[in-house]
Amino acid sequence: MTAACKICGGSTRVTHVGTVLGRHEATYLMCTDCAFWFVDEPHWLDEAYSEAVAAIDTGVVQRNLHLYPVLASVLARMFGSTGVYVDYGGGYGLLVRMLRDVGLNAYWQDAYCQNLFARGFEWDRGRQDAATAVTAVEVMEHVTDPLAFVDTCLRETGADSFILTQHLHDLRADPSWWYLAPEAGQHISFYAPRTMHRLAERLGMTYHAADTLHLLTKRDFRRGTFARTVRLHRYIHPWLRRRLQSHVVPDHQLLVRRACCAG
Ligand SMILES: [Zn+2]
Repeated sequence: MTAACKICGGSTRVTHVGTVLGRHEATYLMCTDCAFWFVDEPHWLDEAYSEAVAAIDTGVVQRNLHLYPVLASVLARMFGSTGVYVDYGGGYGLLVRMLRDVGLNAYWQDAYCQNLFARGFEWDRGRQDAATAVTAVEVMEHVTDPLAFVDTCLRETGADSFILTQHLHDLRADPSWWYLAPEAGQHISFYAPRTMHRLAERLGMTYHAADTLHLLTKRDFRRGTFARTVRLHRYIHPWLRRRLQSHVVPDHQLLVRRACCAG
């Protein structure tokens, strides 16, 4: 018998057995109910997250450049320009730095990656107000238990909304789908639209989609608001840059003061 679905508890079927990192056998399971597609017991994750493997990610700057104006527009327009935002799995901190540069109160949380660009702005519930929303860019395909992960993010931050990036699968369970990325061994969880709906439902949230950007929220947004805001980011983002006060200089001054006090 295969493992139960980690999102809805439904039964699963084996879609295929693949090879991960060139040498580990990986069994891919799909929920027969919500279509959550996942790797059964990935035991190679320590190896997959070694520095050498992370080094093959050449898309890190491209992704951030593309995503930043969209995310800034969604956060400021739908959740407010004075909100507190936490980027989970913040990586090198490039996105948080860009969001702060435009004038948003963004922080990062990442237990695994050394932050380079937004040091001093790590999320600390003891120091900051409850968060307005959490963002998770290229994160959900890495987590072993998505339901527990989102729930933890919301509880740790006090946020009522969760924005994530994700390429959804098309139910065909194609073993050659590029997003499975078995050569790196890091992608272990894949979602269909109905998986996202079920995930939201289990968390007492509603689900809104806009291409590869997804919103889970306890707020009452009108249907289409999210997708429209994503679409209009070309107009919203330049307006934000004119209207908001950038944190570049105040952040610098704050870090200088902290360094002086510490010294
Ligand atoms: Zn399921």
